[in-house]
Amino acid sequence: MSEQRDVIIIGSGPAGLTAAIYTARANLKPLLIEGLEAGGQLMITTAVENFPGFSDGIMGPELMGAMRVQAERFGTEIIQGHVTGVDLSRPPFIVKTDGTDYQARAVILATGASARLLGLPSERRLMGHGVSTCATCDGFFYRNRPIAVVGGGDSALEEAIFLTKFASRVTLIHRRDSLRGSKIMRDKAAANPKIAFRWNSIVEEVKDVEKGVVTGVLLRDTVTGERSELPLEGLFVAIGHTPNTSLVANQLALDANGYVVTHDGTHTSVPGVCACGDVQDHVYRQAITAAGSGCMAALDAERFIEG
Ligand code: NAP
Repeated sequence: MSEQRDVIIIGSGPAGLTAAIYTARANLKPLLIEGLEAGGQLMITTAVENFPGFSDGIMGPELMGAMRVQAERFGTEIIQGHVTGVDLSRPPFIVKTDGTDYQARAVILATGASARLLGLPSERRLMGHGVSTCATCDGFFYRNRPIAVVGGGDSALEEAIFLTKFASRVTLIHRRDSLRGSKIMRDKAAANPKIAFRWNSIVEEVKDVEKGVVTGVLLRDTVTGERSELPLEGLFVAIGHTPNTSLVANQLALDANGYVVTHDGTHTSVPGVCACGDVQDHVYRQAITAAGSGCMAALDAERFIEG
């Protein structure tokens, strides 16, 4: 036997929790399944200074905690754990978790995207303490400081150019000797006097875990094998994002990069399944745009159920 629900929201970042606030207030008694990274990407950032309404900034985990309390206040049921499978072939949709299977009249997918990481223990330890995956969020903290960006695609180039507004010097560290990014971005970066390039270089370690702040990186030259240390105060990892779409890969239309395709607001290729936040947005990727699309998904799901 499976439990019946009006709306099930999968994911607990700003998109999922905003969808929960709106569907709860519409009396749809939403069930929100948190996922493995409860609270989403903001849980690994420190101060959020660009979320409107918080003139002194707010810590990422504190903002997510407040959104969660707000969602629960209006009657959202939040369960820990993650979704192991879905069947979106026809309504009612099936959402399976470790413990229980649910049926839902509408599903809101808010599973987000995960920034790709280098996979170094030191990178993980210093995340939010000098290591960042979001220049728009954290660039401001590096006024007149030397920093580096890892990656050779458009994201890395865009972040490096943006960060020259703050940093004293931006070193772009790339593992090959040619960039993957578009010509216009390559030319812009090359023409920027604040950007230096370290080619054929792999970050082997971020320093200094002992001190709890970034003081530099240990680099290995892939051609000569030589190791060197580059002093830095911040490291931005910009080697791409992976949308969390493995659950729905064969059930919803995805674009060439694996993001869920939405149309007319947040509708996916399956009526009654809406998608919001970074799982369907590789352009803006901000907490506030995710929250905005979460609101849209809630209204779209509500109209679908009423219709
Ligand atoms: P991307 O194009 O996949 O580039 C990722 C970069 O990271 C590549 O240079 C890759 O190196 C490097 N990389 C990957 N794994 C690595 C690792 N483990 N260690 C070191 N380096 C690693 O990703 P993206 O830059 O995020 O762009 C994604 C898509 O969005 C692209 O289609 C891009 O054009 C688009 N985009 C456009 C704009 C814009 O137009 N303004 C801005 C951002 C993104 P290799 O080159 O050696 O593979």
